[in-house]
Amino acid sequence: ACLREIEAADALNAFVHKTPEIAMERARAADAMLKEKGDEAPGMCGIPVGIKDLFCTEHVPSQAASRILENFRPEYESTVTAQLKAAGAVMLGKLNMDEFAMGSSNEHSVYGPAVNPWRVDERLLTPGGSSGGSAAAVAARLCLGATGTDTGGSIRQPAAFTGIVGLKPTYGRCSRWGIVAFASSLDQAGPMTRTVRDAAIMLQAMAGHDPKDSTSADLPLPDFEAAITGDIRGKRIGIPREYRMEGMPAEIEALWKQGAEMLRDAGAEIVDISLPHTKYALPCYYVIAPAEASSNLARYDGVRYGYRAKLAKGEGIVEMYEKTRAEGFGPEVQRRVMIGTYVLSAGFYDAYYNRARKVRSLIKRDFETVFADGIDAILTPATPSAAFGLGEMSEADPVQMYLNDVFTVTVNLAGLPGIAVPAGLDSQGLPLGLQLIGRPWEEGELLNLAETLE
Ligand code: GLN
Repeated sequence: ACLREIEAADALNAFVHKTPEIAMERARAADAMLKEKGDEAPGMCGIPVGIKDLFCTEHVPSQAASRILENFRPEYESTVTAQLKAAGAVMLGKLNMDEFAMGSSNEHSVYGPAVNPWRVDERLLTPGGSSGGSAAAVAARLCLGATGTDTGGSIRQPAAFTGIVGLKPTYGRCSRWGIVAFASSLDQAGPMTRTVRDAAIMLQAMAGHDPKDSTSADLPLPDFEAAITGDIRGKRIGIPREYRMEGMPAEIEALWKQGAEMLRDAGAEIVDISLPHTKYALPCYYVIAPAEASSNLARYDGVRYGYRAKLAKGEGIVEMYEKTRAEGFGPEVQRRVMIGTYVLSAGFYDAYYNRARKVRSLIKRDFETVFADGIDAILTPATPSAAFGLGEMSEADPVQMYLNDVFTVTVNLAGLPGIAVPAGLDSQGLPLGLQLIGRPWEEGELLNLAETLE
């Protein structure tokens, strides 16, 4: 049924490589697993999922939506997708995204934009980004869950734009091995699903220690689904005053208030808190993320992977690198490489990169302080607006796009878990999301609180 839905939904441009043979093979394997294990079979057994194109999948195109990885078929499987497979999940194909996960609208993709299944009249809307294909696919019911990655909001913002649930786990909860690197100190994989319970089940299969990723945490894995008890009495939920941005649409403010009331009605205590360094998060992120990206993307040189530019007579290896990278990377990726190289250069390293690292510590400390004061989780809007129209954000002003990440990047900088849950509809009938931010390693608690908001 999902494979049929995918064919019928080609206009969404969510699936960019379909793998129906693999899907049928895995479905049969799942059937056998179910027969053998019965109720003991893992929760993901037989569940059809989509995989963001950023994950390496053995012998299946894994392009990170970039021309530079054209025809790249990895010889190996990422840890997260290998674990999903081992748990019986059925891969339907690879999902659209912004090139190298850089963007908030899925418009920076070699495959062209993914389209949000939600509409206002006939206006085409973005599903958000960078995990836009994942969000569109889950929202349109082409699959029951999808993997996303979140470096600065790329799971939570698209989830909010499409009315689904998106969880970014604590940094280190899921292995990054085999996921194309963007900014290694920020990248985390996570589940995108229709419900909070589904997110718990999918995270269970994705998470866990992996010796192949030195930043993956060697901690016991709690039972995430069992953590959803519905009992949130006595929990202290912080409302950070710095997130009450000037010019915030009244509808978002109202839904935020309504979310707080829902948590209070369920027995939580709502507390005003301050995260004083919030306003520095966006500039800090847009120094650190490009810095790490410029280093990670140095490997795409026309030799080791994918695309290589054609050379004219007289052109040598330097021209080969230059032309390959100029033709293989899209404009947003080139912009990030340029910014990253600049902030890491000898003359500017201290002024930009090192300063951003210090600011990052202050942002992290803001969270540590409120958690030490007994706050269990923090409630904020997920995005400053509902989904915008395709092509509406100007290419000439990239900062306009970056502003989408204002509520989400703090969480990555601090390495914390964050979840976006559907909060309701705006006056145009488009979904809006709320975000809950938790203590490190407390995804279970976060899921339990998030379920109250469903
Ligand atoms: N929109 C942000 C960026 O462009 C976040 C991307 C992400 O989380 N992968 O960097």
